[in-house]
Amino acid sequence: MLLDRSLRLKSLPEYPFARIDRLKKEAKVDIIDLGIGDPDLPTPEYIISALKNAIDNPITHQYPPYSGYSSLRCEIASWYKKRFDVDLNPDKEILPLLGSKEGIAHILFSIINPCDYVLTPDPGYPVYKSATILSGGIPRIVPLLSKNGFLPDLDNIDPNGCKAFFLNYPNNPTGATCSLDFLKDLVHFARKNNIIILFDLAYSEVYFDEKPPSLLQIDGGMDVGIEFHSFSKTYNMAGWRLGFCVGNRDIIKSLLDLKTNLDSGIFGAIQYAGISALKNEGFVDEMRKVYKRRLDILTDGLSSCGFKVDMPKATFYLWASIKGPSLDFSEKLLKDTGVVATPGIGFGKYGEGFIRFSVASPDERIKEAVSRIKKWHSFQQ
Ligand code: PLP
Repeated sequence: MLLDRSLRLKSLPEYPFARIDRLKKEAKVDIIDLGIGDPDLPTPEYIISALKNAIDNPITHQYPPYSGYSSLRCEIASWYKKRFDVDLNPDKEILPLLGSKEGIAHILFSIINPCDYVLTPDPGYPVYKSATILSGGIPRIVPLLSKNGFLPDLDNIDPNGCKAFFLNYPNNPTGATCSLDFLKDLVHFARKNNIIILFDLAYSEVYFDEKPPSLLQIDGGMDVGIEFHSFSKTYNMAGWRLGFCVGNRDIIKSLLDLKTNLDSGIFGAIQYAGISALKNEGFVDEMRKVYKRRLDILTDGLSSCGFKVDMPKATFYLWASIKGPSLDFSEKLLKDTGVVATPGIGFGKYGEGFIRFSVASPDERIKEAVSRIKKWHSFQQ
């Protein structure tokens, strides 16, 4: 049979990291992978033991409720109150997800119609663009430029025909954060233009200075959007697939109604593990210290060999400005040194001229990467 893939699938842009993936596989040298955003440290023991206890409870072996266990939603509400001083109704304003990516990828299927425009940041997490295309929408690129602190210039966005707007602060890939004042302007923009805000807070807990804010802290924020959270980065639980979204009850209900037709909820024992994760602040403080230490090593190391890099305020990524095409740069870096960094072009055309390093690797590997780049860079100049 000759498979003719759906037009929907065929309309997706080419996978931007294919060349780097192939080189990684073919490489004969020892690879130090600073390309991926997958935490290297294990899930903390207290979460694993919560899962082990829950797995013995036969109730977790049955289909879970579509909207998640009420005990998980209540724990999320308490966490939100503590973290953001925001009150949430656990029955109507919270929805657990199979990882935040799942919600981000599905939400548009429940709120847009074919040919609606969706504002997608560039550079940005590639799923915003692909989810827009798969759901029949049209991405309208919103450039994130260094001169604006990698924030969108709201006065220069054409809102005509737009139904939704993805934003992500703390930001992957740039490491930028946003202020409450920016979020106030954003709520004003959303209200004026009747645009739904889809605020991705996957890195809300990976910060080194000020706590990143929530859209729901702003008056009117709850009217205009929802926000997505992830257990992957906060608790080293990327493989567990657990996240949640909170906010406007009509939007949450639309996503729930859609998901009722797509999946059958999150394994109950993982939901219990999520409850225990949210109760413990101490672990997250330690996690922040580890990433801060690693980013210091990388920032100092790269600066000393001439890279233009600033220590990010949040996330575990370093967004480094480079000369020439980013794909060529990453390819040469990998071939010559074995260090993998993600080419900025993979995050959109405004990512060109940058590469992204991640510090989801042990300190010693980051030090080794710096030492190889130092030798390589002085040889290049
Ligand atoms: N949002 C951003 C900006 C990300 O970088 C990622 C993963 O890398 C996600 C969302 C998805 O995270 P998860 O589905 O593991 O919760």
